[in-house]
Amino acid sequence: MQYQYITYEQLGPVTRICHNRPEKSNSQNLGLLKELDHAVTRAGADKDVRVVIIGGKGKHFSAGHDLQENAGGSDSADQDMSPESWEAYETEYYMDYCMRIYDLPKPTIAQVQGACVAGAFMVANMCDLLVASEDAFFADPVVHMVATTGAEVMIAPWVLGFRKAKEMLFTGERISARDGLMAGMVNRVVPREKLEEETLAMANRIAKAPPFAIKMTKKSLNRGLDMMGFRAFLQAHHHTHLLAHQSAETKRLFATLNPENVVQTAKDKQK
Ligand code: ZN
Repeated sequence: MQYQYITYEQLGPVTRICHNRPEKSNSQNLGLLKELDHAVTRAGADKDVRVVIIGGKGKHFSAGHDLQENAGGSDSADQDMSPESWEAYETEYYMDYCMRIYDLPKPTIAQVQGACVAGAFMVANMCDLLVASEDAFFADPVVHMVATTGAEVMIAPWVLGFRKAKEMLFTGERISARDGLMAGMVNRVVPREKLEEETLAMANRIAKAPPFAIKMTKKSLNRGLDMMGFRAFLQAHHHTHLLAHQSAETKRLFATLNPENVVQTAKDKQK
């Protein structure tokens, strides 16, 4: 597959996959999501790849789903989908794509600068570890924007704790890299100019470990989360999310939505 919306770099034992639509704040159109899924699957199958970094080229990690270009899809203003099509669309492109990142049998690191909003928040937080630059901010403003229950994959309470997740979702406000660090969502905060270097150094450190031991360690830790109800919770939330999409509130807000406004909205709501 020739990639148009992402980059795929092999850096020794580390694969770095980046959102690459900087002129659109790296917003995720359907083409980008399909390429990202392809790249993640490819890195997972490549026996020479030990660690996968997911990042974004330019100023932002990503503003989340492209509400303008995913025309006909569930997150576009001009959609007219049946609930059946809606369920199929969001299950495949949002839920299943995210779970493939989570289930990758190799360590993954999100490398985050600038905006990491909604659909991008879920992609970044599917990764095992997260390195953020000082300018990074995290937000899920879609309760306020389009009256759904936050993004499709409700990863927030698992990475932030329920208290902080409720604050983020109820207020629509952004969380800084430092707040993310304090909550345990962010592993390290580094200066913007050091982000790529520090993330790659962490990846190379992990790449030195015996790969089967790392694979089994990840399996064991993820199984622990499953025992706490992680996967069942995400699936239940996804259906609640699909229900909320059918509300009159959602339809009214989608009709007035300015799709270019997502990053700005998250910024406006900051404290
Ligand atoms: Zn949705």
